[in-house]
Amino acid sequence: MKRSDKKKLARRIAKERIRILFSLAESYAKRGDLDISSRYVELILKIARKYNIRLPREMKYRICKKCNCFIIPGKNATVRLKKGKVVIKCLECDRYKRYPYK
Ligand SMILES: [Zn+2]
Repeated sequence: MKRSDKKKLARRIAKERIRILFSLAESYAKRGDLDISSRYVELILKIARKYNIRLPREMKYRICKKCNCFIIPGKNATVRLKKGKVVIKCLECDRYKRYPYK
């Protein structure tokens, strides 16, 4: 196997792991186990950094990069639309995230 192929394969596996970790983080967060879910979030960010993987939008929306918590709108975050932007406020650390609304 070529070196570049190996790298590609490693990234594919890493992406798969991120998907699995994300759904785990989500289910724990929904159950109210925020400590456990943020540990999964930490892992997701670590893997993404290591393999240089950009998280898809729908994942980025749900992760607070400041406190590593999994965002559940209405539970630990508020979501508002403001001037064509989605404004998400993490209630754990009071950080705002803004995304263009499409
Ligand atoms: Zn936060």
